[in-house]
Amino acid sequence: MDSCGVRVAILGVAQDGGVPQAGCGCERCSAAQLDPSLRLHPSSIAILGEDGGLHLVEATRDVSQQLWIASTSLGMDGLQTYV
Ligand SMILES: [Zn+2]
Repeated sequence: MDSCGVRVAILGVAQDGGVPQAGCGCERCSAAQLDPSLRLHPSSIAILGEDGGLHLVEATRDVSQQLWIASTSLGMDGLQTYV
């Protein structure tokens, strides 16, 4: 099977408010307030094309953190040439 040079990084899996959601006092959000490892970014993916172009699907309120995740997950040298 041939592989292509396209790479994808999943940047978030939560609904649009993320976890913890602002103003929510449910058990899950309360736990995430206390433990950052339980926090989830809103759903988003980054695609790094064969031509080096970076494509972001669903820019969210956490876009700055998600671009950092994309940079490290996709092995990019930095974002200044992509943003
Ligand atoms: Zn909640």
